[in-house]
Amino acid sequence: MSTKRDFYEILGVQKTATEVEIKSAYRKIALKYHPDRNKDNPEAEKKFKEAAEAYAVLSDPGKRKTYDQFGHAGLGGAAGMGGGQGFGSMEDILNAFGDIFSGFGGGGFESIFGGGGGNRPQRGASLRVDLQIDLEDVLKGTQKTIEIARLDQCETCGGSGAKPGTQPDTCGTCGGHGEISLNQGFFHVRQACPSCRGTGKMITHPCATCRGAGKVRKRDPITLTIPPGIEEGHVERLPGKGESGENGGPPGDLVVVIHLKEHEIFHRRGADLLIDLRIRYSQAALGGSAEVPTLEEEKTARIKIPKGTQPGEILRLRGQGLPRPDGRGKGNLLVRISIQVPKKLTAKQEELLHELDKIEEKQGKKEQHKGLFSKIRDIF
Ligand SMILES: [Zn+2]
Ligand SMILES: [Zn+2]
Repeated sequence: MSTKRDFYEILGVQKTATEVEIKSAYRKIALKYHPDRNKDNPEAEKKFKEAAEAYAVLSDPGKRKTYDQFGHAGLGGAAGMGGGQGFGSMEDILNAFGDIFSGFGGGGFESIFGGGGGNRPQRGASLRVDLQIDLEDVLKGTQKTIEIARLDQCETCGGSGAKPGTQPDTCGTCGGHGEISLNQGFFHVRQACPSCRGTGKMITHPCATCRGAGKVRKRDPITLTIPPGIEEGHVERLPGKGESGENGGPPGDLVVVIHLKEHEIFHRRGADLLIDLRIRYSQAALGGSAEVPTLEEEKTARIKIPKGTQPGEILRLRGQGLPRPDGRGKGNLLVRISIQVPKKLTAKQEELLHELDKIEEKQGKKEQHKGLFSKIRDIF
């Protein structure tokens, strides 16, 4: 058995190092000797494995304690990695300590390496806008202009991110491919380059407008045609009006969700409109007609009130509702009747109402009687 280097020495930390210090020290070494950056370099591979073994022990409080007391001998095969000889393969290490790379380059090794990388074209993100419209807009349809701030290609640098007159340099790690191929004999994977985050380029002189991002937020007015009869929650998809894509990929969509503002008088019931109408007791009893508002500005309609109309009854005015979304005509105006009771009476009204009341009281008793008799009749 070959003599082993001290684990603390391998990671370059003190014996008193905290867990955080150990983790950070390992991370530095692992990134430095990572197989992606050290192709066909057996020395780097050895260092990478050595560091992983040291970290496996020192990051585990139990194993670290044993190691502190008894050294390598104390661990024996207990380190659980092929009799203390370290990891079997590079893949084992990457699997075991994948999370150590999180936070690397702001993105995390996993996300950088996790496929979908490279400088392949990627579709831009879709944007969602919620748009409120008035009920009147549903009647005739309308055009709305919405302004959204979306990420678009920077015009100063044409999306390259480099200052005009300069060029982005080719990434040294991946040679501009944006991807690196790991072919170590253990496994073979294609992964996004961690140095350039898959773009294949390094920007030395960033564009002043976009600060190297290649994209800027732009407020773009977009005109949207809203057809008559549109429904609450309707989703309008505008292809290509979302965020711009990556590496020449297509832009995302703009998704507009339509919402209806509550109207003071009119309530929507599909293609029908519902309003409340208060009429007088005498109107309800005698029948007649009443004027009702319509959704069309300053236009009213007359509705016939049949004799003996009851409170809560719904009368219908054909064709005075909203256009049906399928274009098949219009809905109806529904008029819900309630009875208005006067709060103050003139002497004349009071006199007449008293008279009416007496008549109605008599009639009521008669009907009660009739009802009673018919019930008794039913019994016999
Ligand atoms: Zn720019
Ligand atoms: Zn690269």
